[in-house]
Amino acid sequence: MDNAARHSQRPVPQLLAVSKTQDATAVAELAAAGQRAFGENYVQEAAGKTAALAGLGLEWHLIGHLQSNKAAQAAQLFDWVQTVDRPKLVAALARHRDPQTAPLQVLIQANIDDEASKHGCRPEDAPALAAAIAAQPRLRLRGLMVIPAPHAEPERRRPAFRRSRELFEALRAAHPQVDTLSMGMSDDYAIAIEEGATMVRIGTALFGARPPKTSP
Ligand SMILES: *Cc1c(COP(=O)(O)O)cnc(C)c1O
Repeated sequence: MDNAARHSQRPVPQLLAVSKTQDATAVAELAAAGQRAFGENYVQEAAGKTAALAGLGLEWHLIGHLQSNKAAQAAQLFDWVQTVDRPKLVAALARHRDPQTAPLQVLIQANIDDEASKHGCRPEDAPALAAAIAAQPRLRLRGLMVIPAPHAEPERRRPAFRRSRELFEALRAAHPQVDTLSMGMSDDYAIAIEEGATMVRIGTALFGARPPKTSP
């Protein structure tokens, strides 16, 4: 990360450790080494780990698709939700965020390559979604999250990262509190950093290969 940032003369981004399928012990080991922010894909799986590790002062990010019927639980469990992609979710998260706690930090997930199978809003719908989030006092709009199409050659994802940066800048021009562009994973984070990522989401390169998925 340092090398990529130096190479492109950009600030070193924030590291989100993606701990899906890793047990609480593995998370605690990384936390002991100084890592604070962790990303989870499933609300149910995260519930167990956040409970087991409460008191360590960790910051939990939801980076998996959020079903509306899980929004209430997600609004209470997570510090950040990076996968907000429709107005219905904005209303549900705002309704269920406890007003006694800090606002829920929110990223808009955009389907930057317009993939039929993918979650995320259409890029052209992001500004309206941003306005809806910004209007909710229990939510705090922080920026944009993208997962480019998985070209076998990571270099081919660079144009998508570049378009994401442009969309991020447009959101920031309208909402000064926007400061987070979440993009880049184990096999393409250097390219994402060169194109302006402020947060990278890394699983395999930190924890090693994940065991095969057994339950959704
Ligand atoms: C699993 C996952 C990651 C991490 O992927 P690695 O290739 O293991 O680094 C990042 N972002 C999202 C949305 C993921 O689901």
